[in-house]
Amino acid sequence: MENKAVIYTRVSDPSQIENNSLEVQEQSCRKFAQAKGLTIIKIFKEEGKSAKHVNTRPALRDCLNFCSTKKNQVSALVVYKFDRFSRNLEEGLATISLLAKYNIEVLSVIEDVEQNPMGRAIRNIMMTVGQLDNELKGERVKDNMLACFRKGFWPFKCPIGYQRKYQTKEQNKGLPPIKEPNLAPIIERMFHKAKSGIYNKTQLAKIMNGEGFGDYYKSKASHKIVDKILKRTFYYGYMYSPKWNEYSWGEHKPLIDESTWNRAYQAVIMKKKNYTYQDDELYPLKGILRCEKCGGLMTTCPSKGRNGKVFYYECGNRDCRKIRIQAKEVHGQFNQLLKQIQPSSRVIILFNQMVFKEWDKGINQAKKEARVIENRIAELKKELTSIRKAKDDGTYSPKEAKEEARKIRQEIRVSEVEKSDFKVEQYDTEIVREFTKQFLINLQKLWKKLDLPKKQTLQNKIFPNGILCLRDKTIRTVNLSPSFRLIKALATKKGRNVTPQGIEP
Ligand SMILES: [Zn+2]
Repeated sequence: MENKAVIYTRVSDPSQIENNSLEVQEQSCRKFAQAKGLTIIKIFKEEGKSAKHVNTRPALRDCLNFCSTKKNQVSALVVYKFDRFSRNLEEGLATISLLAKYNIEVLSVIEDVEQNPMGRAIRNIMMTVGQLDNELKGERVKDNMLACFRKGFWPFKCPIGYQRKYQTKEQNKGLPPIKEPNLAPIIERMFHKAKSGIYNKTQLAKIMNGEGFGDYYKSKASHKIVDKILKRTFYYGYMYSPKWNEYSWGEHKPLIDESTWNRAYQAVIMKKKNYTYQDDELYPLKGILRCEKCGGLMTTCPSKGRNGKVFYYECGNRDCRKIRIQAKEVHGQFNQLLKQIQPSSRVIILFNQMVFKEWDKGINQAKKEARVIENRIAELKKELTSIRKAKDDGTYSPKEAKEEARKIRQEIRVSEVEKSDFKVEQYDTEIVREFTKQFLINLQKLWKKLDLPKKQTLQNKIFPNGILCLRDKTIRTVNLSPSFRLIKALATKKGRNVTPQGIEP
């Protein structure tokens, strides 16, 4: 049987419609659906509505109505990221469970989780943490530029190959940089040439100049410019700000994918011959582990030992004299670290409030609303009968009766759909309760169970600023997401990890 799916995309700020972020989401969703063997039959685009309340989003409403119509046979709803779907936990969960009633899965490209209690648990973690982080950040971040950066918008001068869409700052507000039509393709091609490993920086610069780089940029390309470009993760979508020493995924369209960037970087900057993309499963901390000395991301490499291959994380920066540590050892330490981490008490409180209290409230409210609609449907059905009578006794002509009946049937259909919005049952609460227990008690266990993309999602949530690898081959945290905290007793004894400040209620 063919598996049919729909896509739902959303931008949160009306000014974002201008850029292609809806399109980017759609493309990612399509690719994802294809890989899962799903056929997309419809796309719903929410243009510039806040995700705060499901009710204010007409496209989501259409989408839910479409999904709940049996004849459409939808088996999955694909979103780019759960926060596109809902920023509000209760409503997000309610919608997911509503769709579950129709045997429709909600799939997220970014947080690809399984449809089982564990998978659902993780999805809920992502949604909760996303929401809480936002709330906490909202309170704490006074710096507008930093807030902007964290939302995925590059607030500085554009990197080579990108430009601003409009002339004035005011017009560009809330918009990511767009590709500079002449330079972007040249840079893109340069990355692909670089990854072959045949060219050095000077040769790459020459190629770029041959393609007219100098005509569009204020100077000709040089080995320095090539070096600068190849080192920037911005080109695959990951923004780095030296000012705040923070990374954030950007809303701009990347020029290349991450694997291309990695290969080009390894081949030209690290001068590694025959670099092959590592088996990432062996290095779950790649992308989060940084060298303490230079701040750079640690790279990975297998090395031939006496008893076969040994896997290392290492800093490739020559000035660091190869800070290198066995992967096995880092992972052990990382597990110890996870043991010391708990969601902050505020999260636990909020979580219980939100999920259980609000949830119960939500269910009661939903039941009430459903009853109102049921009554309305009953009324409408009565009216249908009276129309039939009116036709029989000649009050209505057959034509009039037909028209009246059509209107009422239409109204009944609409009401049925509305009613389906409120079907939430106690059962869902049990799932949420179960996962909370698991998640709150044992992050380390949770992490172990996850596959690579989920591991990375979770660790990025907990350690948004990465983990440092010290020269004495130990690791320490930079700072935690405000939703998590270190268990203090352990932290002080070890004395290495920073305690997040000012976030406990
Ligand atoms: Zn280093």
